[in-house]
Amino acid sequence: MLVDSHCHINFPDLASNMPALRAAMAENAVGHALCVSVTLKDFPAVLAVAEAHDNIFASVGVHPDYEDEPFFTADDLVRLAQHPKVIAIGETGLDYFRLTGDLDWQRERFRTHIRAAIAADRPLIIHTRSAAEDTIRIMREEGAERIGGVMHCFTESLEVAEQAMALGFYISFSGIVTFKNAGALKEVARQIPLDRVLVETDSPYLAPIPFRGKTNQPAYVKHVAEEVARLRGISLEALSEATTRNFFTLFRQARPCS
Ligand SMILES: [Zn+2]
Ligand SMILES: [Zn+2]
Repeated sequence: MLVDSHCHINFPDLASNMPALRAAMAENAVGHALCVSVTLKDFPAVLAVAEAHDNIFASVGVHPDYEDEPFFTADDLVRLAQHPKVIAIGETGLDYFRLTGDLDWQRERFRTHIRAAIAADRPLIIHTRSAAEDTIRIMREEGAERIGGVMHCFTESLEVAEQAMALGFYISFSGIVTFKNAGALKEVARQIPLDRVLVETDSPYLAPIPFRGKTNQPAYVKHVAEEVARLRGISLEALSEATTRNFFTLFRQARPCS
């Protein structure tokens, strides 16, 4: 069975369709999914999805693209993370692709999440885009290796993957790894140790081939897993088993359901 380690099924397009999404997960041997917060305003909806379904978990955090979010402290995140279905802090990180100018607020907010993750004993979900150097630097400065986590929707170099893994982080591949022009990323997926690999959809975004351009959903993580297995020359079953074990090793608070 697979786990979709990162999705946004609380978004209205998907949340209104939960029975079909869950049926598709079952048909494709996708046993669990982690529904990831992008704002604190959305967090109740994320938690509601997780509370309603025993194979869906939640995270709490504010995505770096949401500049106009109200101020919050590490203590606020720690308090929200106390719920037993909340297994991670994020998604957080740095994004210098979508936003430019003075991004001190983004870096400060990233530090707040790392401090919260350590205090709440919940691993981090890190988003990094066009900002790898600062992301790794802040992870080091804040002692992120004390809690670990995942570099989600990974699109960086092998060198960046190695720097993150040295801090105890896992590397999660999305549908991007199935794209024909993703040669460098396919090479990263071949080379990193199997015990550091996770797979995700980031749905509703980034649908893998053969659904590229369509609305993504957790069941499609099977296509991501098939491509990573093919690249590594192992079976889908072996890749599923390893990535599921990795998920439950990293997210210690997540209770698997049969
Ligand atoms: Zn992201
Ligand atoms: Zn995401």
